Amino acid sequence: MKRNRITKVEPVSLYVPLKEKIDAPISVPHAAALADVIFSGYRTTLVRIQTEEGIAGVGECMVRLAPTATLDIVRDLAPILIGRDVLDREAIWELLYGTMMNRGHSRGFYTEAISGIDIAIWDCAAKTLGVPLYTLLGGRHHEKLKAYASSLRFREMDIVIAQALDFKKRGYRSMKIKIGRNLEHPEADIAFVRAIREAVGDDVQLMVDANCAYGDDVATALRVGRALQDLDIYWFEEPLSPDHIDGNAQLAAALDIRIALGEADFMCYGAREFLARRAVDVFQPNISRTGGITEARRIAALCQAHHIPYAPHTGSCSAVCLAATLQFAVALPNFLIFESMQSDWSKAQPNPLRHDLLREPAEVFQDGCMVIQERPGIGAELNEDVVDKWRIA
Ligand SMILES: [Mg+2]
Repeated sequence: MKRNRITKVEPVSLYVPLKEKIDAPISVPHAAALADVIFSGYRTTLVRIQTEEGIAGVGECMVRLAPTATLDIVRDLAPILIGRDVLDREAIWELLYGTMMNRGHSRGFYTEAISGIDIAIWDCAAKTLGVPLYTLLGGRHHEKLKAYASSLRFREMDIVIAQALDFKKRGYRSMKIKIGRNLEHPEADIAFVRAIREAVGDDVQLMVDANCAYGDDVATALRVGRALQDLDIYWFEEPLSPDHIDGNAQLAAALDIRIALGEADFMCYGAREFLARRAVDVFQPNISRTGGITEARRIAALCQAHHIPYAPHTGSCSAVCLAATLQFAVALPNFLIFESMQSDWSKAQPNPLRHDLLREPAEVFQDGCMVIQERPGIGAELNEDVVDKWRIA
């Protein structure tokens, strides 16, 4: 009987400061005031787990601020993990969740910490059996994963169009556009989207992401949504505040364009609200935030029960999250499309946590799709030089 117990849990926080200040590359609320804090650098917290059989696993906790806050939570939880069998991954998840389920920490940093631990345990479990993660999750449902280029960000119009044409030339048949800077006069954003549509042609699938720009303003989001559907935009992502479930339901009912969201959400209980209230047409959880592989599987099943496709968010995560997400997605029957991040916050300073963190890249892009690698676990071997260079704790 195969058993493989955890002997060491080590969280690692990485931070890559941006050398030059940048404007907010996406439309977060209060962007001008907050850009220096939110977009001052690339961050992540990884979780490394070792076992008695000499297997090493890694997971990622999604981090946008204070990576060491997540690191402290992982350190506090580590004693629960020592001596546990990595094959008991879902039982371990329940123990981790049990520490805080009645204390109000079922969202935010706490759940992000559990997410990174859970991914590392699944990585160890698959490696223990010598199989890729997707085999442990039930096997391949897809030969390859359709991918979209993410994202065309706020820049001069000719630069953005050149970028869109470059995506197309490289084989992307689907790409996403950031909007939401012109809250009083959204016509400027519509014109921006129209210019890209005209440049790339009708055979390219386009999505739009507002990153919650319209807040609670359902009327403006409706107006923008109607204009976007006239431009044959596939989905309208995060038009409103993620807490405005009724507003999103109103948009989903009134518009033909699909409402996509979920990157700001946690756990199956959050997903259930959006799904049951018909507030979403494409659900986009991030495994490094929502509760790891264990929880994302429950969310995927809930989506399936509501006939809603699952389009995994990867956003500004590191290559560890990308590797795990690819393995997870290929085992998902209701997978829709993979977010292939093609733009860093700073053009002058690309994100080394995405490009250089792994010895072998997880993402292999061919003809509009991601090809899944045949490696044990999540297939992510860390480049220790890069870890050492950017480690802050
Ligand atoms: Mg988004």
